[in-house]
Amino acid sequence: MAELGPSPLASGDELPVDAARAAIAAVLRPVQGQERLPLAQALGRVLAADVVSPIAVPAHDNSAMDGYALHGADLRDDAPTVLQAEPATVFAGAPYTAAVPRGGCIRIMTGAVMPPGLDTVVPIELCSVSDGRVSLKPGVLKPGENRRKRGEDLAEGGVALPAGRVLRPADLGLLASLGFDQVNVKRRVRVALFSTGDEVQQPGRPLAPGQIYDSNRYSLMGAMQRLGLEVIDLGLVPDDPALLRATVDRAIAEADAVVTSGGVSMGDADHTRELLAARGEVSFWKVAMRPGRPFAFGPLHGEGGKTAYLFALPGNPVAAIVTFYAFARDALMALAGSAEPAAPRLMAASAVPIRKRPGRTEFQRAIVSRGAQGWEVRTTGAQGAGILRSMAEANALMVLPHAQGPVAAGEPVEVWLFDGLV
Ligand code: AMP
Ligand code: MG
Repeated sequence: MAELGPSPLASGDELPVDAARAAIAAVLRPVQGQERLPLAQALGRVLAADVVSPIAVPAHDNSAMDGYALHGADLRDDAPTVLQAEPATVFAGAPYTAAVPRGGCIRIMTGAVMPPGLDTVVPIELCSVSDGRVSLKPGVLKPGENRRKRGEDLAEGGVALPAGRVLRPADLGLLASLGFDQVNVKRRVRVALFSTGDEVQQPGRPLAPGQIYDSNRYSLMGAMQRLGLEVIDLGLVPDDPALLRATVDRAIAEADAVVTSGGVSMGDADHTRELLAARGEVSFWKVAMRPGRPFAFGPLHGEGGKTAYLFALPGNPVAAIVTFYAFARDALMALAGSAEPAAPRLMAASAVPIRKRPGRTEFQRAIVSRGAQGWEVRTTGAQGAGILRSMAEANALMVLPHAQGPVAAGEPVEVWLFDGLV
């Protein structure tokens, strides 16, 4: 694959994490299909096109307060302003169309359309009212206050939400406020997922000596379901060339991307690597990172020109999750058509000193908490690549970048939170 260049494995060099991410991003093309969904089913889906507002929001100048609507030009700043109230009240949803003369005012409720010519609202608590006369002290109000202007939130014809937006709760509310009950979204990205390895067993079955349960498929399935991806579970495939070939061919035929774990380490049976290499332009990378070095990426080609992008993750349970977050997460969201920046990251003060040598990116399982001075982060015990429990205890990954050396206690470090706010 021209864009990826020769495999760095050949030269023995390690590829920096950022270079691997950039190489992946350069190759991916978003899926094209779209569908029209009822608003209530569109949460988390990717907007297929800009949504242009068919109306101005708000549609009319209206009151931001319960109070009296008046002519701003009648306000005095040298003496109390005294106005004659109309014998009526303007409610939201029932516009008052008669003219209110200069020197007059009218009782108005929040959200009610401003009567013609009136441009200011005095909140009720600033008024004293007697005998139909409303008076307010000088200087408490400026002309134009407490009036929401037509189109102030959104102009008619303006872009309310851009293509590529991953729809959040407030976005659904915004679409509803514009009168839309349906929305065009990108079709969901389909990801085929399978685990490899003769020693790996399906949970629920008894373990033979030397076997371990397939945990990766469940961690990765959960991560992808959270991203709104459609996961095609192709199960567990033993290290058998024929079975592997059949599974890969099915994955290419049915999915936009293929996520596998295990079988790409240097020591593994060569047939996995050979098979993947034969199905497309897959690069086997040795990435300068810990954990999770063996990793393969590239397009696989099937019958009729069908392409699916392969993300072959290492088998170690922690490495599989870390490489998923480091390389597959943002790539799969880009494939889904998302134009959103990567997941939010924050800086937190390291609670303890950390040993780190420059020349590789280190991902540590960590707990971010609120300290006296702000966000604090500490690692969760033993960081061996197979220790899944410390990943389950973590709420974030601490990411120590390529060039970073040792970290002093209190020094800020980047963390990737597992949970987003919305
Ligand atoms: P591999 O990358 O296939 O060499 O696997 C590296 C390590 O991860 C080995 O100890 C495997 O037993 C383990 N492993 C591989 N696949 C899985 C899996 N699906 N679930 C849990 N552990 C796995
Ligand atoms: Mg294996």
